[in-house]
Amino acid sequence: MNVCLRCGAEPPLASQICHDCVRQTIELASLPVNLRMVACKSCSSLKVPGTWTEFKDLDSAVSSFAESSVDWNIDTKKQVIQLSLNQLDPHRFRTEVNCTGVFQEVALSSLLKSEINVKFQVCQSCSRLAGGYYESILQIRTKRKEILDLAVDLVYNEIDSGPSELFTPEAGTVKGGFDFQLSSTEKGRSLAKELMIKFGGQVTETSKLIGRKDGRDLLRHTFGVRLPEVKTGDHLFLDEEVWCVTRIDRRKANLKRLIPSLAQKTVEIDFLRNVPLLDNLSEVQPVSHRGREYLLLDPFTLQTVEAISPEDWKGDKISALRYGNDTYFIWD
Ligand SMILES: [Zn+2]
Ligand SMILES: [Zn+2]
Repeated sequence: MNVCLRCGAEPPLASQICHDCVRQTIELASLPVNLRMVACKSCSSLKVPGTWTEFKDLDSAVSSFAESSVDWNIDTKKQVIQLSLNQLDPHRFRTEVNCTGVFQEVALSSLLKSEINVKFQVCQSCSRLAGGYYESILQIRTKRKEILDLAVDLVYNEIDSGPSELFTPEAGTVKGGFDFQLSSTEKGRSLAKELMIKFGGQVTETSKLIGRKDGRDLLRHTFGVRLPEVKTGDHLFLDEEVWCVTRIDRRKANLKRLIPSLAQKTVEIDFLRNVPLLDNLSEVQPVSHRGREYLLLDPFTLQTVEAISPEDWKGDKISALRYGNDTYFIWD
């Protein structure tokens, strides 16, 4: 019969030694009692070989560093860490790390303690941000304030949700639009493209030599995005007719004619410069009707008007648009 090679105890055995002896001899994990790490004093990023890793605060950075410093016995499975942190002063943390795991069938645990010294530096992103560093300029131009606001919001959202290497040291309103300085050329290019896909229009790219580094030319790129003055869903007054913009694709706009009766066409967006835009649709309440003869309440003048529904109209929704002194009814 097999017995423990170490103490002669009877089974159950794991690798020919009894469970008690496993607990006494197998080291589940270890951790140096003193650890050193480097964090960014501005954004709490943790310096790791070759780069910086972002964390939401210093505690998270220290916890992650302590966790990654635990040296596990590679023959153990189901490794679980519970970690508590205690800040002693701005530079020092004490941590207790409770490790559990399984060797063969034997559950093991060990409580490790360490003191972590934090050295502060400034990460690359923060030092570039502080130095006003930027690689590219994104220029957004449109005559329509509403579209400009939507585009600027989109860019800020991308920056806020992007990695910390993406930032804008300076951004603001300029004549005819809004300019962003961006920390990345690649992102400048992709943001310009995204704006064009969303709003239509066109992008131009130019670059300027700003110096040389490591024998290579350093270029600063400018992405000029010219957005149209109309967007999908707008209502327009064109050739005495009422049109709705159904789609914008780069420099083309698809239009649907609402009054008189439905029709469609595609035009160059440049053709829609200075075209009168109509207010948002208002719902219309029919007061009464007999056959195709309707009495409608004009939502703009609050007066009743007589109207004839289109011959094949079966819908139940009537809306109104206002242009100048006229109200236009749309029979959906
Ligand atoms: Zn034993
Ligand atoms: Zn930083």
